[in-house]
Amino acid sequence: MIKKQLLLTASIMVLLSAAPLQAGKYQGRQLSGSQASATVVEALSSEEAENLIFMREEEKMARDVYLTLYKQWKSPVFSSISRSEQKHMDVMAAKLDAYGLADPVVDDTIGSFTNGDLASMYVDLIALGNASLLDALYVGALIEEVDIKGLQKAIAVTSHPDLMQAYENLMRGSRNHLRAFVGQIESLGVPYEAQVMDQLEVDMILDAPLERQRPKRKGRRR
Ligand code: MN
Ligand code: MN
Repeated sequence: MIKKQLLLTASIMVLLSAAPLQAGKYQGRQLSGSQASATVVEALSSEEAENLIFMREEEKMARDVYLTLYKQWKSPVFSSISRSEQKHMDVMAAKLDAYGLADPVVDDTIGSFTNGDLASMYVDLIALGNASLLDALYVGALIEEVDIKGLQKAIAVTSHPDLMQAYENLMRGSRNHLRAFVGQIESLGVPYEAQVMDQLEVDMILDAPLERQRPKRKGRRR
């Protein structure tokens, strides 16, 4: 049986090991907004803020890699998932706005990042994905595994239900994306092995069916 493994680069290991998801110090909570305001938003801890800022650009990194790999390989899995990543970017942008945080995406050009680790990860992943379609699909699956881990960490340290919900939605998307990339890999006759997550956790995701977006609370008006 052919086995496939990407060589994980330093940039990816940096993202997995620590920064920036554990970098912040918990600063306690404050209320912001005037008493007259209808919506009082509870401020984020510095750690929560850093995670949100990071996830906004992490989604961009995913989108940019998929757009670039689509150009290279013309496999529709990359174009369809890149559209989903754009939606995830938009959700994170809305949350940044709601909490009054500056958007790290100052230049929406493909490959442009404020976070240096994400910038190097983009470069490294494109280099890996340009080698072959199989490598590109492995890069896709890797990004989704990294994304799931990052979201799990972000969920673990937030006390804000709206952020938890947003991260859960993104993570459901990531599980579906992982299923899609692995489906493509296996259609090439190559069994998939977990890259940065536990194999058991990956197997549980792959064995479960595609997850649908939760139905909207409000019914459609006639
Ligand atoms: Mn995503
Ligand atoms: Mn994804």
